[in-house]
Amino acid sequence: MIVRSYTDVIKPIEAALSQSERLQIWRREEVETADGDYALCCLRYTPAVPNAPLIYLSAGTHGDEPAAVACALRVLDKLVAGDPIFAQYAWLISPCDNPFGYERDVRENEAGVDLNQAFGAPDCFPQTSFIAASLKGVHVDMAIDLHEDCDSDGFYLWERRPSSRTPIGHQIIQRVERICAINCDPQIEGHPNEHGVITLLDTVGSKGWTRERYLAESIQTGCLILETPMGLDLEKRVRIHLDAIRSVLDLLQ
Ligand SMILES: [Zn+2]
Repeated sequence: MIVRSYTDVIKPIEAALSQSERLQIWRREEVETADGDYALCCLRYTPAVPNAPLIYLSAGTHGDEPAAVACALRVLDKLVAGDPIFAQYAWLISPCDNPFGYERDVRENEAGVDLNQAFGAPDCFPQTSFIAASLKGVHVDMAIDLHEDCDSDGFYLWERRPSSRTPIGHQIIQRVERICAINCDPQIEGHPNEHGVITLLDTVGSKGWTRERYLAESIQTGCLILETPMGLDLEKRVRIHLDAIRSVLDLLQ
């Protein structure tokens, strides 16, 4: 059953594109399904400052995590408005990677596949193939993948990083805990949780074939996976995601 419209994602994207010459379509591809066609879209923002670090922001891999998609659109708004913190970075933004799931509020794509376990062979599915093609030849300084967790009472994050890189997860948690409870369970999905931070070093495969593992293996990029608790209302979850992203940007300065 359709509960949301992907048009409500595409329209703000088109509006943003028409309002800023710095924002452009990086890659666009039609996916045909038995229930309709969807245009996958990845956007590129070029800041006024040359050689700015590139942030790769992705959302909506899981169709039943709508605050992630709403937050990605909110970041586009900030870039169009020239927000001084956001607009100093270059961005690659994939705002809704599973439009079929998004419209139906289901985790999987039209083939019933959890796309965040399909990056071992990304060419097998149009959505993962699109993501891989979007990242080809790109140097990403920091990747942020937005998710939500319906089983969590608090915010937490996964930090995938090379062992040589200084961690930043706990500094993000310090900021988020001013506005949201943190998940302090000793373990999350079988991984040790240290006050809201689960660390995944290098190319460790214990989380399966996720996007952030693909990023680590294919383009040697660290990634933060942000998880908001779905018991809160949508706008609050969007604000939590935005606050966490903002703290990443502050830490990269
Ligand atoms: Zn998710």
